[in-house]
Amino acid sequence: MHSASARQRSDGIWGVVPLKAPESAKTRLAGVLSHASRRSLFFSMANHVISTLKASSNIARLLVVTPSEISAEMARAAGAEILWGPPDEGMANACARATAHVAAAGGQRVMFVPGDLPLLDVAAVDMLSRAPVDAIGMAPNREGYGTNGLICRPGAIPMHFSGHSLSAHKDAAQRAGIKVWIVRARGWALDVDLPADLDELKSSIKDALEIARAGAAAGCREALFTLGDRPEERYAAAREALQQLGHASTASYVAEVAQRVRAETGLLPHFNMGVLSAAEYQALRPHAPSFGIMLETASERLSERGGPHYGSPDKHPAVRLETMRLAGEAHIPITSGILIGIGETRRERLESLFALRDLHDRYGHVQEVIVQNFRAKAGTKMVNAPEPSMDELCWTTAVARLILGSAMSIQVPPNLFEGDLTDLIRAGINDWGGVSPITPDHVNPEAPWPHLERLSEVTARGGKVLVERLTVYPQYIDARDQWVDPGLHRDLLLHSDCGGLARTDGKWIAGSSTATDISSLQMQATIPNADSISPQTIDIVNKCLSGDRLEEADLVHLFKARGNDFAYLTQTADRLRKETNGDNITYVVNRNINYTNVCQYHCNFCAFSKGRVEESLREKPYIVELDEIRRRVREAWDRGATEVCLQGGIHPDYTGHTYLDICSAAKTECPDIHIHAFSPLEIMHGAQSLGRTVKAFLSDLKKAGLSTLPGTAAEILDDEVRRQICPDKLNTQEWLTVIRTAHELGLRTTATIMFGHVESYRHWAQHILKLVELQRNTRGLTEFVPLPFVHEEAPLFRRNRSHQGPTLREAVLMHTVGRLAFHGLIDNIQTSWVKMGEQGSQLCLQAGVNDLGGSLMNESISRAAGAAHGQELSPAAMAALAARLGRTAVQRTTLYGRVSIERQQAAQAALPLTPVKMAKYVALCGGVGGAKLAFGLAHALPPGELTIAVNTGDDFEHFGLLICPDLDTVVYTLAGIADAGKGWGRASESWLVQEELARLGGPTWFQLGDKDLALHLYRRSLLDGGNSLCGVTTTLANTLGIKHTIVPMSNDPVRTIVETDEGALAFQNYFVARRCEPRVSGFRYEGAATARVSPALEAALNAPDLTGIILCPSNPFDECDASALCTDSIEIDMIKTLMKTPNERITLAQHVLARLKNLSSNGKVYAMS
Ligand code: SF4
Repeated sequence: MHSASARQRSDGIWGVVPLKAPESAKTRLAGVLSHASRRSLFFSMANHVISTLKASSNIARLLVVTPSEISAEMARAAGAEILWGPPDEGMANACARATAHVAAAGGQRVMFVPGDLPLLDVAAVDMLSRAPVDAIGMAPNREGYGTNGLICRPGAIPMHFSGHSLSAHKDAAQRAGIKVWIVRARGWALDVDLPADLDELKSSIKDALEIARAGAAAGCREALFTLGDRPEERYAAAREALQQLGHASTASYVAEVAQRVRAETGLLPHFNMGVLSAAEYQALRPHAPSFGIMLETASERLSERGGPHYGSPDKHPAVRLETMRLAGEAHIPITSGILIGIGETRRERLESLFALRDLHDRYGHVQEVIVQNFRAKAGTKMVNAPEPSMDELCWTTAVARLILGSAMSIQVPPNLFEGDLTDLIRAGINDWGGVSPITPDHVNPEAPWPHLERLSEVTARGGKVLVERLTVYPQYIDARDQWVDPGLHRDLLLHSDCGGLARTDGKWIAGSSTATDISSLQMQATIPNADSISPQTIDIVNKCLSGDRLEEADLVHLFKARGNDFAYLTQTADRLRKETNGDNITYVVNRNINYTNVCQYHCNFCAFSKGRVEESLREKPYIVELDEIRRRVREAWDRGATEVCLQGGIHPDYTGHTYLDICSAAKTECPDIHIHAFSPLEIMHGAQSLGRTVKAFLSDLKKAGLSTLPGTAAEILDDEVRRQICPDKLNTQEWLTVIRTAHELGLRTTATIMFGHVESYRHWAQHILKLVELQRNTRGLTEFVPLPFVHEEAPLFRRNRSHQGPTLREAVLMHTVGRLAFHGLIDNIQTSWVKMGEQGSQLCLQAGVNDLGGSLMNESISRAAGAAHGQELSPAAMAALAARLGRTAVQRTTLYGRVSIERQQAAQAALPLTPVKMAKYVALCGGVGGAKLAFGLAHALPPGELTIAVNTGDDFEHFGLLICPDLDTVVYTLAGIADAGKGWGRASESWLVQEELARLGGPTWFQLGDKDLALHLYRRSLLDGGNSLCGVTTTLANTLGIKHTIVPMSNDPVRTIVETDEGALAFQNYFVARRCEPRVSGFRYEGAATARVSPALEAALNAPDLTGIILCPSNPFDECDASALCTDSIEIDMIKTLMKTPNERITLAQHVLARLKNLSSNGKVYAMS
């Protein structure tokens, strides 16, 4: 039906292409191209335009008007009819004769298209074809005054070829009383007539990038590269275009474009490039996690004379199967499929599916099989061939499911199916393929993709939930070391959740997200009826309720829950919570005392621990002495605490005696306080250091006052995961042994899980099952505490080897599944407000959680990892949080007992802790000039009150080092070691390396002093060690004695690219190497779209006592409105003067601060420059 209507629309549309003789074409390019190149360019573009028009189902006939024998020959070969004209006829006359010819032949409409539109595509042609029949449709050129396409009734208006033909055509239409219909499309915009046009053609990579950027902005995650089988081997136009772009092959071109698309947008490439060799697979594998190649059919009969694949050697089944085999050998996940309705029998279809199954059985690399129905396309030999019925498509889909099994993904493209899409769901599909909001289906441009809302609604009607996936399927992401090039892991992990599907819960991030980010979760959705929940989900929940043993697959199924299943689970967990715990929300008033952050272990997720002094990042290594521990315990008691929680790094000098001393000190200071202390790792370390058994050492600690243990250091109880995240820590069995032993001694413990880094749902399931087993035996676990991974400062994440924590759905679901799986075993499910935030905790409290944990007073471990939810949640804040849910917050003891009135009153009346110094001002700082004002501010403010966030958009890589000109200028200036004369670099600098470089003939355009170079080398080594730029900068600033915080604006790279008449230049190349000489046409900021604000800056901006934000640009007079600094007493000239000496900078800074303080007297934050 679809094709029939397409053919109806095409009735009467003639495409007309006026073509000059090649020798008189493109003469305006004579200054930049040789005659041979111009001729070659002319033919490649004309061929492209004619082929594109032929491929459009809207063009009924195609006419080329030309005086040239050789042009006619090319056009005829491309399938056009020829209308001869005299050599000096001119384009307008040629078009007039073509119009008369079309009218005489009974044509109803004519579309004029020049032969030099290198980006013209079928979608653009079809857009212009849709102009109303009684209108004149026009496609303007890039500048908007020329006409690159025109459609009208024959003779409606004359054709113009002046520079401003668009207005000439509009005037003519107005005179004739005909409406005008304008079409703007990339494919119509570029004609090649001037050297600048040629440049644009050469930069078609830019076009791909623009599409990719638009895609990324619209929420796409995949960039699909669809190309024919090595088009350069078949088409001169393709060869020509590749040469213009400096590539010898399509593979090389695609690799470059894909690399840039990924770097700039983060989109994951998927290559549909037809037949590839083993060498091509090796070359392309680092650029895309997955490839696609259709088998179409395994029947050789269809490649014989008279068959649909006759004359297409690349479609021969043996060639296609060999290509797929090579992909398997190269460990590349592929998408393949069959095409039905091309003359094959049902038996041949089955054989094709068996061939795919055999391949997959051998290599395990077929991630998806597409069952695609043949569509008759205009311009192809099979234009009149019948299309397969939808019943036939459903039958094939069903047998594909039976042959390929339940684990295989089976896809039917929804835009090619003309029936009820739920039939396909019933037939066994589980995937709709790719749906783009940006570009049409280039293979089937006549069939638009359905909107996602409609697809979602249809999928729901079919009893399923529409879920976004990535270009590579979850099982291959799970086994990424085997299947995906390591260079792609970072992007894959950034896009995916722990189940291997796309992260779709807004932008929620554990440890830092705020209220606006949690709206995506619909836990309270009304579940229409029991039929809308998967029977498997209901069965598993029933197993939980009746205490039956759960399997790994059961829990994995629960972790995958979405839609109604998700709402059913959270609502069931909430009901269980109410039955078990009532409506009270409990919390314990406690104090965290992390007695040292020095640690001899190397957990890859840990941002808290510090090794040797020179490796220390973010915070200096510290030890809290026993006196200070006693003071903090006493202060906690005075503030109503019933518990102190003591944990720390494993200091190499500590022994079991240290832990015993810590325990005794706390207990002696406050005999009634509950000592909740020492992870299983500390217990093992203490026992081993004294040559005692775990049991004996635990008994000693118990005698010293230990009451309970935190079940931390559990991370994920799976040794496969532990080898990746904490290789030298205690293993799963050792953790379980310590906990079991503690329980045997009557020391109860909590149980934790740290999730959302490298693991997948099966690991979560295993972890929970081990805890279930333990609890069945000992009954010693007091609560289950999910700890979502806070990724920002974790070395694992900074080395591109982890997810950015769980998604919000996963984080909530972990609590929910905990409530269900531990039903009857562990009554208390706790949420960590430090990691979930108040709003996230609120969601968890509605999904099975009954406990908010401790008020903490001094949380520092999550904060070190980048969490920004504060250090204490007071009883009043807990009460407010509970009240928002209509529930009551109740203070409890560690063991969930009642707390005396005296303790409650002490907690309620607690004076604030000595406040932790937070930055009161944030300075947003550029380079030289900015550093001067920052220097003034740093001296005008007490230590610790200023956070200086520095521009990193000018950073670049040089000799493998990361050069951060602005950051270093600020650090040097504040440390008082900057070269005051130059304003950049170090004072008293020596230049031996630079001199030696010059002697060796190396690049010396960027001046690197010896001292400066030392900093760059050190920074490189720290970054390579997995530390963030933020952490490294803090270390350097601390070492140089700077009393305020200096942070990069982002830990992620952002690069300023200057567009000039010499092409795109990295900022420092333009500024330093080229001394700002090339003419500038624009700027872009690579990486800006995906870069995240550095966590320290985010924390400073969110600090409750933030008073003002001060802009410190490199040049205040060029970069912002300097008048903002001025009052009656200070004029611009004075500001210039004031910036000259250190004292004057301080005076200016005091002036700025005084104005800010005046402005902010009402408690609001002001920005000022
Ligand atoms: S998690 Fe604990 S053991 Fe591991 S490095 Fe950090 S402080 Fe040390």
